[in-house]
Amino acid sequence: MPKSKIRTRLAPSPTGVPHVGTAYQALFGYVWARKNDGSFILRIEDTDRERSSKASEKAIIRALRWLGLQWDEGPDVGGEYGPYRQSERLEIYSKHVSQLLKEGKAYPCFCSRERLAEMRKTRRSGADTGYDGLCRSIPASEAQKRMESGESHTVRLKSPQDGECVFTDLLRGEVRKDWRSVDDQVLLKADGYPTYHLAVVVDDHLMRISHIIRGEEWLNSVPKHVLLYRYFGWEMPVMCHLPLLRNKDKSKLSKRKNPTSIGFYRDTGYLPRALLNYLAMMGWSHPEGEEKFDLENMIDLFELEKVTLGGPVFDVDKLRWLNARYIREDHTPEELVDLLQGWRLNRQTLVRIMEISQGRLQTLSDWGPLTSLFFADDVRPDPADLRACGLEERELREMLQLLVWKLESVQDLDIDTISIELREMADKLGLKLRKLTAPLYVAISGKTSSTPLFDSMAILGPDISLVRLRRALEALGGTSKKQRKALEKRYRDLFEKSG
Ligand code: GLU
Repeated sequence: MPKSKIRTRLAPSPTGVPHVGTAYQALFGYVWARKNDGSFILRIEDTDRERSSKASEKAIIRALRWLGLQWDEGPDVGGEYGPYRQSERLEIYSKHVSQLLKEGKAYPCFCSRERLAEMRKTRRSGADTGYDGLCRSIPASEAQKRMESGESHTVRLKSPQDGECVFTDLLRGEVRKDWRSVDDQVLLKADGYPTYHLAVVVDDHLMRISHIIRGEEWLNSVPKHVLLYRYFGWEMPVMCHLPLLRNKDKSKLSKRKNPTSIGFYRDTGYLPRALLNYLAMMGWSHPEGEEKFDLENMIDLFELEKVTLGGPVFDVDKLRWLNARYIREDHTPEELVDLLQGWRLNRQTLVRIMEISQGRLQTLSDWGPLTSLFFADDVRPDPADLRACGLEERELREMLQLLVWKLESVQDLDIDTISIELREMADKLGLKLRKLTAPLYVAISGKTSSTPLFDSMAILGPDISLVRLRRALEALGGTSKKQRKALEKRYRDLFEKSG
């Protein structure tokens, strides 16, 4: 393939806070494009209408900008193959689905939610967990009539009933999967929105993506995509599924065990170059064994085929060590002062902090200890202080867990939002607001007296606030799997809107 044809993409779903796994995929896609004088594209996959939000899209773009991985085409910069937001491409998907329907490669499914739920209950095991194919057998003319009469339906992919799907992953070689284990995937939902599987294939093709570089969690979906490429008669891009990042105990990297949001690392003063350098080592080794190298150097030496699959461990201590090297070796004191100012020691932030600390100062030197929570990362509450807040231990843990989930669902943590969310929470739990804010205060500040809670959280931002809450939960011994399951149900009953 000529070098100029190399096109990679990052295709995040704007459904939460930007994750280091997204930065990791972005890095490898970016480097591969740059190395080959190709293009790196940002596409926003916002087809999940309930979970997608503009705030999340903004946070993703901000995080990627902070990292310095500039894309050549995307929703904010435009490009030849736009629009780059899937919610703005609905007509394109519907046209492609019509073609599949016409050619008998997909079929409308009129099954109700209730029937599908019932079916799932009875088809629990083995290869038969997917759709049972009831609507496959509806004669085409009848199906057509029912669609025309406006009957609610989805459109499903007609998956082969025998044989094997064989495809190649650049890092794994040949992968095989029995077609019978591939579900008749929904392609178009009843509301006319595509599912991920349809949209990703259509867009990767129309946007001329040459290399799909993404996380291993999508490997199982590839047969559905292979089928769609085949049905449309399109050439498959090169598939490259990067290994999953892992916690130290080798489980999949999770926010319960490590801070995972890019914003956390930005807001606690990691340098973007150090974070990128560290992520580069997740699956790739510098040929000369260097541990500290910059992006340009990686672009020079990188070879996609050399990525290894050994379950890279994202170790925050190692990242801190590398960050320290950047601070020590790459910057003069003057530059570091500039970096500090860009981070939090700027006039605007300092005034915000002063507004909420002024009333508690007797001398100017009280300011340092009073406001250390804004400048330190190792804020960890004393479990005794949490326990002294007047809730039973179990209640305390449950409440902290519920709070974590509640705040995770909020993207903009401004004072009004915090206040509304916490009041709603107290209300639903039948607790006085104070019962809730007291332990929260200890968790956020690590102290029993500090600057006002809501303002402090707003200044710290959602990423740090959430990490501190999780640390408080951890300090109390965390919640067991069983407790979490029960709590998840409670959370759903309390907060999730019906429909
Ligand atoms: N929208 C998917 C995600 O956010 C992208 C998967 C892909 O890269 O194909 O994980």
